Amino acid sequence: MASVSGAQVIAESLKAQNIEYMFGIVGIPVTEIAIAAQAVGIKYVGMRNEQAACYAASAVGYLTGRPGVCLVVSGPGFLHALGGMANATVNCWPLIVIGGSSDRNQETMGAFQEFPQVEAGRLYNKLSVRPSSLEAIPAVIEKAVRTSIYGRPGSCYIDIPGDFVTLQVNKSSVKYVECCLPPPISTAESSAVSRAASVIALSKQPLLIIGKGAAYSHAENNIRKLVDLCGLPFLPTPMAKGVVPDNHPNCVAAARSTALQHADVIILLGARLNWILHFGLPPRFRKDVKVIQIDICSEELGNNVRPAATLLGDINAVTGQLLEEFSKRSLKYPSNSEWWKRLRETMLNNEERSKGLALQKSLPMNYYTVFHHIRELIPKDCILVSEGANTMDIGRTMLPNYYPRQRLDAGTFGTMGVGLGFAIAAAMVAKDRTPEKRVICIEGDSAFGFSGMEVETICRYNLPVLIIIINNNGIYTGLGADAWKEMLKFGEPATCVPPVSLLPNSHYEEIMSAFGGKGYFVKTPEELQNALKASLTDKQTPSLINVMIDPQSDRKKQEFPWLTRSNL
Ligand code: ADP
Ligand code: MG
Repeated sequence: MASVSGAQVIAESLKAQNIEYMFGIVGIPVTEIAIAAQAVGIKYVGMRNEQAACYAASAVGYLTGRPGVCLVVSGPGFLHALGGMANATVNCWPLIVIGGSSDRNQETMGAFQEFPQVEAGRLYNKLSVRPSSLEAIPAVIEKAVRTSIYGRPGSCYIDIPGDFVTLQVNKSSVKYVECCLPPPISTAESSAVSRAASVIALSKQPLLIIGKGAAYSHAENNIRKLVDLCGLPFLPTPMAKGVVPDNHPNCVAAARSTALQHADVIILLGARLNWILHFGLPPRFRKDVKVIQIDICSEELGNNVRPAATLLGDINAVTGQLLEEFSKRSLKYPSNSEWWKRLRETMLNNEERSKGLALQKSLPMNYYTVFHHIRELIPKDCILVSEGANTMDIGRTMLPNYYPRQRLDAGTFGTMGVGLGFAIAAAMVAKDRTPEKRVICIEGDSAFGFSGMEVETICRYNLPVLIIIINNNGIYTGLGADAWKEMLKFGEPATCVPPVSLLPNSHYEEIMSAFGGKGYFVKTPEELQNALKASLTDKQTPSLINVMIDPQSDRKKQEFPWLTRSNL
């Protein structure tokens, strides 16, 4: 009688759930799973560290709405992937992690790489399970995929004992489970919709905040209509940039602090009132601000503020309901209000300040000059991945997004090291769906270091990713080569190198050329422009531009210093 192995059952079950991509590192006991996955047509990408593999798989979930799979070995492999599981769950992104574990008959005996993986997985995942038999695998995989995308999306972990992988069972005893249905779409209670509309109708200073939940739910068309129909000023959170294009006249990102601080009614579309939005509390918000909260997760409603209306449901569906209600009431916020005047004035002022910095001619360049030249040359439809402290924050304000789900960054968890994994995932997805789109990954030098060896992965799979490193020789700030030498005179590196410093003038671009890609080391605007033009014209070759900037370059002065306790 024909038989199948555990590895084949896993691969077939994933295929049945329309899983397209798997990222991982093979080894005992999961190598056969990767081979079986490839045999059924799942695209397997072998990475260099499980953490990056897990970040990549989670980005696939956000970009496609279908979870990517991360495949890891037991013990250390599983542990390295925890960062990715936590990042996905905190970001509300679907993800499936499959971890090999010790053979069942060696458990508790001190088996090779033995670790209580199912228990450890519970804290990071919506579901952490081990199938009881090979026959149980299809149903467990269906449940994991379904759980990862239903309700608030998140990560699910499936534990596969090593002895399952090569174990054989009769083909006829395995029953594959049909692909789970797409997540059910829920709409808000109609009384909540009309309450929300009444609150908005009385507002003098409204503000729409668009979060990455809105991007994930593909609500761009409805939100765009809502903005146009009602004339509302809107503010995207970092990864919601592009849901409505950043150059839309109602985008008030350049007056973010003012908009948050003075809005009397806030419509919150798929964004949590966490640190990114200063908890919705004074001094960053009015004490009496009325929040209309729209979210798929009922437990989220009412966190940190008492909302004026709560609309539980899918953002796309609920914005559809709001559109209907608003067109009935012909609700249009006037474009000549005092509020708009104030927002426009603030935006002009802030834009002027950035422009001044961007046009500075002095060398080494500052962040603003670098981003100014990048903005001038990169295609409008590129997928931007970004991480680093100042690199990410300044880049966010300087580089516009015109399309939804085309910005990936450190996210809700503030995770550094996500960049290359995200870029690899985005490039894989773009190759299959939108091959004309380039992936541009803008990294701080420190952020790049977390997963720099994934450059080899990029070259192995020939993904035309452009990596730009904004290199200030350090974390937050660094030292110039002369200051570095001077400092070393005074002691041993371990006692005198400032913890924020990285080696000055590091030639990161040589990591790219080592693997056959193109590397550029640039110090001036002209060199930067030439390197950008060359790497953007060559649509086949991965490239890395290492941009040396002033190690002391900083953000322009902020009204509210970042993340300080007294200024929550
Ligand atoms: P941001 O980082 O943009 O501020 P968050 O990650 O804090 O966004 O919030 C995203 C929110 O979106 C989460 O509370 C999540 O429950 C919600 N969400 C995710 N998908 C949907 C959806 N389809 N419809 C409604 N809300 C959603
Ligand atoms: Mg740096």
